Amino acid sequence: VDQPRIPLADGTSIPQVGLGVYQTENDKAPAVIRAALEAGYRQIDTAAIYGNEQGVGEGIRSSGVPRDQIYLTTKLWNSEQGYDSTLKAFDASLKKLGTDHVDLYLIHWPAPKKDLFVDTWKAFIRLQKEGRITSIGVSNFMPEHIDRLVAETGVKPVINQIELHPTFQQAALRAYHQANGIVTQSWSPLGQGTLMDNPVVTSIASKHGKTPAQILIRWHVNMELVTIPKSANPERIKANFDVFDFSLDTDDMAALAKLDGADNRLGPDPLTADF
Ligand code: NAD
Repeated sequence: VDQPRIPLADGTSIPQVGLGVYQTENDKAPAVIRAALEAGYRQIDTAAIYGNEQGVGEGIRSSGVPRDQIYLTTKLWNSEQGYDSTLKAFDASLKKLGTDHVDLYLIHWPAPKKDLFVDTWKAFIRLQKEGRITSIGVSNFMPEHIDRLVAETGVKPVINQIELHPTFQQAALRAYHQANGIVTQSWSPLGQGTLMDNPVVTSIASKHGKTPAQILIRWHVNMELVTIPKSANPERIKANFDVFDFSLDTDDMAALAKLDGADNRLGPDPLTADF
């Protein structure tokens, strides 16, 4: 499948639409990954805390798709932040994934009370120099956290993966990213399923002969975001990737823009989340 890729500041690029696997059980992950690769996905988003790195790795190896054609992301969990513990946690993730490198490694949350994200970032920089991570990024970081990484190490993350959907559009953070050459990756792009019967979404869906999920995913594509909708159902996985044969027009985008609300966060607030 011909699909858009988004360039990153380090000279690489990432497929724009990928598969999220939060809450996909490890034993089901191989079949889910094979279904996604079969449908054309080439980006997979997992994390150590999801407990399915082993199943994801098995799915990749049994798919018949060469490893170098797949963009694989995993994330460092909060409890492993710190320089030495990051090096160790990364080894453990690679071992579970059964691969010699990841394409993107993210600090999962800043966890500011721990105050370890700068040391963690220094370990990321070392792992990248060693060639075991292609690109290094962060998740759930606010500008103040990214500014500190840059002030203390001189190295900018290429991506910040944040909660983002039509009901929580993150205009301020997107503007900060754009000004700093950082790509925005949307998590919970479907609003965790809560937007499927939103009347604005369903009416645009009827107009285009597409499903609400396809309208939502296409919104992220039109917004030039990188996104990772989650499903463990092969038919939905396939349908969610079928978004490259149509586009949303300015009326659609204007109607969806109005769904935005600053209080519509579904997940934790990165400034206070410490778990
Ligand atoms: P999502 O917005 O992708 O929604 C997933 C929900 O939508 C599931 O309940 C699924 O059953 C439903 N769904 C999917 N396709 C559908 C379809 N075609 N029709 C009807 N329902 C459908 O939510 P998410 O899983 O929270 O986010 C996506 C991914 O983002 C995760 O899997 C994970 O990889 C990542 N994520 C990252 C963080 C982070 O802190 N970095 C946090 C949450 C999620």
